[in-house]
Amino acid sequence: MELKQITENTYYIPGPTNLGLFVLDREVILIDSGNDESAGRKVYRLLEEKGWRLRKIINTHSNADHIGGNAYLQKKTDCDILATTLEAVYITEPYLEPFLLWGAFPFKALRNKFLQAQPSKVTHLINTEGIIEDTPLEAYPLEGHFLQMIGVKTPDGVFFIADSLFSSDIINKYSLTVKSNIEKALETYSFLEKCSAQFFVPAHAQPTTDIGDLIRVNKEQIEKINKKIMHYCTIPSSRERILQLLVMDYKLQLSSVQYVLTHITVSAHLSYLSDRQMIKPLFEEGKMLWISTG
Ligand SMILES: [Zn+2]
Repeated sequence: MELKQITENTYYIPGPTNLGLFVLDREVILIDSGNDESAGRKVYRLLEEKGWRLRKIINTHSNADHIGGNAYLQKKTDCDILATTLEAVYITEPYLEPFLLWGAFPFKALRNKFLQAQPSKVTHLINTEGIIEDTPLEAYPLEGHFLQMIGVKTPDGVFFIADSLFSSDIINKYSLTVKSNIEKALETYSFLEKCSAQFFVPAHAQPTTDIGDLIRVNKEQIEKINKKIMHYCTIPSSRERILQLLVMDYKLQLSSVQYVLTHITVSAHLSYLSDRQMIKPLFEEGKMLWISTG
């Protein structure tokens, strides 16, 4: 685990999920805690080596790859954990993530560390917007990916933008990156287009001074998927059928985990298109089908 300095007080740790650190007087505010307990251990060791003390973890959202180190770090340091109201519920009761994705109590293959982290205790609820209490950091709402995700900006101009934007490599590999609300995701892109910061640190892409290209790639992918779904729905198609067509179209590998992650994104697109009266549901032979209205 490697610590990279961005500005005087702000660092990040590159990894499958990039983590942020704001350090003042040897006291650390950590932005997200990594994939699992092993990530938590590595962060702990790194802070020990530096002689820094962990005071707070701010979780941008509750997905397992962002809160996986919470439990270990909280046990070792008794640090505060801060999150927005809805995300806090999922951090405290992490089985709710696979529960939400599957739509009921999840079967065993979904109850693993990729979807379900160890529980930890959120000590402070924070607003989605404004200065985060007792810190010099500022929260911004970045909805669209999960429930109530935030970005965190440091006073020295580094903006940790969580899972609002994915790298082109990830988009090329998975095609459908997790979205729970397409309208909000598009609003988030518009907000980020106008946003200024010295550095942007997405959780799953290289830090950059300019996110213009990244926004374009992410936005185009949403538009492409909307178009594909509209095309499939010229014939009445079930959600399962639409998912199947996308999986075959993009030649994706499915597993139980990948299936539920694809499923939520397909559902988000269906809600978006339906609310714009571009498709509508119909019920036939015990199936819910979607048909384009055009
Ligand atoms: Zn993530």
